[in-house]
Amino acid sequence: MNLTLRILIAMGVGLCVGVLLQWGDFTDDHIVSVFFTNGVIDAGGDIFITLLKMMVVPLVLVSLTCGAANLGATGKVGRLGGKTIGLYLVTTAAAVTLALTLALIVDPGLSAADKDMPSPEFVGKDAPSIKETLVNIVPSNPIAAMAEGKMLQVILFAVLLGLAMSKTGESGRRVLKVFEDLNLIVMKLVTMLIQLAPYGVFCLMVTLGVTVGWSEITKLLAYFLTVVAALLLHMMLVYPLFLRFIAGVNPLIYLKKMREPMLVAFSSASSGATLPVTLRTVEHRVGVSNSVASFAVPLGATINMDGTAIMQGVATVFIAQFYGFMLGPQDYLLVILTASLASIGTAAVPGVGLIMLALVLGQVGLPLEGIGLIIGVDRILDMMRTAVNVTGDGMVATTVAKSENELDLQVFNDPEAGKMIAS
Ligand code: ASP
Repeated sequence: MNLTLRILIAMGVGLCVGVLLQWGDFTDDHIVSVFFTNGVIDAGGDIFITLLKMMVVPLVLVSLTCGAANLGATGKVGRLGGKTIGLYLVTTAAAVTLALTLALIVDPGLSAADKDMPSPEFVGKDAPSIKETLVNIVPSNPIAAMAEGKMLQVILFAVLLGLAMSKTGESGRRVLKVFEDLNLIVMKLVTMLIQLAPYGVFCLMVTLGVTVGWSEITKLLAYFLTVVAALLLHMMLVYPLFLRFIAGVNPLIYLKKMREPMLVAFSSASSGATLPVTLRTVEHRVGVSNSVASFAVPLGATINMDGTAIMQGVATVFIAQFYGFMLGPQDYLLVILTASLASIGTAAVPGVGLIMLALVLGQVGLPLEGIGLIIGVDRILDMMRTAVNVTGDGMVATTVAKSENELDLQVFNDPEAGKMIAS
């Protein structure tokens, strides 16, 4: 049975088990909670995500150093970097605009305003300033950056190391060969670990089924459905338009090949933890060259969060309407700008998009407690937006690769290419 199908079955069964445990009040049972939900299941989910996270730093370092070293010789680094970052910004701004438009049509805050809502309890954290964010990209100690998992710092170091390698003649070529071999080994390890995905996903979905708050979803249904609709539109309409008209490739093939990273992103709610699966898929299934994928995908996992920006756009309109604030056109422009920046600053882990929403609300003078209103449904929305975030990373990598002749169309069009077969 293929891996995607196994993950899907594990997902469905896990969710059913979790929901049944919640509905049947089994979670109050001491044995069930100690040994099952808080025991084996919790540990299984954590182990799966930690195994994926374990691969992130070695994979990015090794793969991106190879990519930058190969690109260094071609002199394409600057153009490629510019295109990738430019496309990330454009897609994120498009995502917020779509979210705002849909939210202004649906008016989710108006229908919630007269409901008995949970009393907002939200203590905001200070979002880092833009200057701080920029300075923080440069590592003073690359080993510390790797130890602390500071992705932008690891990315910068790997790019510089690769570029230097490409300019060091014979010695550079010798070390590059070692890195290329290491890259193959690390990728193999990723392929081996992904075989565990059905078990990990099963555990994560049981936990979701047990904890999902149905009453909160019902109360916030208009907000919830607006975010879901905007996410779906962005994934099923905006990305395909980019793929069809800018990259000139078949969007359906792309979306089909990205199913595994989407499912892992959905279950883990972390684009950071999903990175090894995304990178492997974009390179081996979609056919993007290592030079482009190794740069675009880790960078995208760190700074490109279209799904997060969508949630922030809808949430801003929802909170404004709920508290009866009137926002003007210039406020919406400010929301587009700050939500794009906030999503860049959002760490690729669960729930941070909601914390960064404080930055957007603060810019347009909305009460930060508004975040407390939507916190109850955020976990499920976080799962969905993370799936969109990783799909966007791969889409930009594919588009940039196509424009640079770095997309292997034979791999792209081959449904079997890079398929993960149990080994
Ligand atoms: N969980 C999201 C991600 O990892 C970030 C967020 O929106 O909270 O991509």
